[in-house]
Amino acid sequence: MAPVAEQPWSGIAARVAAATGAPFQVREARPVGGGCINEAWRLVGADGRSLFAKLNAPDREDMFAAEAAGLREIAATGTVTAPAPICHGALQGRSFLVLEYIPFGRGDASERLGRELAQMHRSSWSSYGWWRDNTIGSTPQINTPADDWVDFWRERRLGYQLRLARDNGYGGELQRRGELLLELFPALFAGYTPAISLLHGDLWSGNVGVSDSGDPVIFDPATYYGDREAEIAMTELFGGFSSRFYAAYNEQWPLDEGYRVRRDLYNLYHILNHLNLFGGGYLRQAEQMLGRLLSELR
Ligand code: ADP
Repeated sequence: MAPVAEQPWSGIAARVAAATGAPFQVREARPVGGGCINEAWRLVGADGRSLFAKLNAPDREDMFAAEAAGLREIAATGTVTAPAPICHGALQGRSFLVLEYIPFGRGDASERLGRELAQMHRSSWSSYGWWRDNTIGSTPQINTPADDWVDFWRERRLGYQLRLARDNGYGGELQRRGELLLELFPALFAGYTPAISLLHGDLWSGNVGVSDSGDPVIFDPATYYGDREAEIAMTELFGGFSSRFYAAYNEQWPLDEGYRVRRDLYNLYHILNHLNLFGGGYLRQAEQMLGRLLSELR
């Protein structure tokens, strides 16, 4: 997004003051790198206090509302640290989300992250899904609750992304294999009913950090309640998580041995999402994953 000369800092400062009950003035705004979707800023207040702000186009207000709700849901578990949301909204032709600023350090907190993530996954709900939809990257993520996980994964995850792919012009072999997989994949759940776990939902290494006081921190979630295997699968998809993370997780709450086969089923969702967002080589990767899964099933 092109830089905007007129940033809405004074309006945002007023919203921060209204939300916290304490005056806030932006003394300095420093751009923060590393994000995928939004413009990110560190706002330094007149009192020296820092806040973290993300900005986007005005139609992204609901995306920020969902992110704030997800961060609150994670924080309520009292397990892994997540930045506290302060306020969100839209003004001066931008939407915004303001969060607690977390100073990130360079330490390693892999073991604690593994342990605390397993504890977070113990937080449960009445159904798979969530009380609201959100986004995965910038793609809508539908969370309408369902009592059956296989139905949920078929309709709201793989089916949704496959339909999107078709609308984006990816027909042919991808759709043929996709339809077959939707028919056959329930066999991967014979004898396995996943626990209903609170998931971060977009847990790749770019959404994990360590605070300068040594706490593992997760941010930028795509929260919903589902099979924790989907979360662990994503950590393996793009790498960056150490063996200490997995050992600590499994010590706290071991994964079912069928995870190894279901891992591709879960990661296919993210590869299809990448195909829909970025195109290119993700088509081949999606078709190969489908091929591997179908050969397990036939
Ligand atoms: P995007 O939604 O664009 O992907 P992120 O939420 O991933 O943006 O944030 C972009 C970067 O800003 C992250 O990589 C991280 O380094 C930093 N960051 C995210 N949240 C905070 C926070 N609460 N405090 C300080 N820095 C943060």
